[in-house]
Amino acid sequence: MNTESLYQLIEPLLYLADPQKRIFIGYLIASALLAAWVLSRQAQPIKPLIQHCFSKKLWLHPSMLLDLKLIFFNNMLWLLLLAPFFGTQIALALSTKRLLVAGFGAGDMFQISALSISLIYTVVLFIADDFARFFVHYLYHKIPLLWRFHAVHHSATLLTPLTLYRVHFIEMIVNAMRSIFIAGIVGGLFIYLFDGKIAPLQILGISIFSLIFNLAGSNLRHSSIWLGFGKVEKWVMSPAQHQIHHSAEPQHFDKNLGVMIALWDRLFGTWLASENEKVTAYGIGRDVQVKQTLANHLTGL
Ligand SMILES: [Zn+2]
Ligand SMILES: [Zn+2]
Repeated sequence: MNTESLYQLIEPLLYLADPQKRIFIGYLIASALLAAWVLSRQAQPIKPLIQHCFSKKLWLHPSMLLDLKLIFFNNMLWLLLLAPFFGTQIALALSTKRLLVAGFGAGDMFQISALSISLIYTVVLFIADDFARFFVHYLYHKIPLLWRFHAVHHSATLLTPLTLYRVHFIEMIVNAMRSIFIAGIVGGLFIYLFDGKIAPLQILGISIFSLIFNLAGSNLRHSSIWLGFGKVEKWVMSPAQHQIHHSAEPQHFDKNLGVMIALWDRLFGTWLASENEKVTAYGIGRDVQVKQTLANHLTGL
């Protein structure tokens, strides 16, 4: 095995140094600070949480071990199956532009500043991507065959920031196709309308919206720290709302499917405020015991 393939196999460890990943060390620190603030507001001590983060009880928990196995297993599959298709997004954007030219004639119809184009592009891409994430998630919950694969994410009985990567590889492939599709279509539309002058507002290589989301405690979504946003939840999904999404209680099933924008859940009737709710257990059902092994999850649940 050469150095490069070894490097690729341990790639998930490098997520900690990559601002494009949710478990980037900077975002973890931001979430930890928020967690400390939440605990101090609830007059709870912080020390037990710190001890828990470094305890065997956490790192050797069967649910956590499966999270870890899936991260490395999916990374390997990604390298073998999906990496060769990386160019598709640009190809799709150019095809979209060609189609628009064929259907509506030459584009480049608006003469506005490059900064304005960047601003509009960043906002449109954020809204389109957030809706696509919501809608595909909605389908995972409503179509039994898709649920079988998505249930892998929901079978976690312990939520940690790593649970984000606990997905079946079919879901990983569908999600990658969703991102490529949205970025390709929106990119193509903007190349058409503004003659290629697109450059999304980015800091550290990620969009400003993702940066705000990640600094606002995105990692607490997969944790047991209960952070609600009060009235703001009508517009922005809170970490507590995602914990409700993982609840093992039937009244919480299929609720709060959104990532950042709460409007989609409100339109589809799946929105639930965190204010009067309490989550006592995570998983796919109170009486459903799922063996936390990789073999048990490979074909879906
Ligand atoms: Zn779900
Ligand atoms: Zn989740």
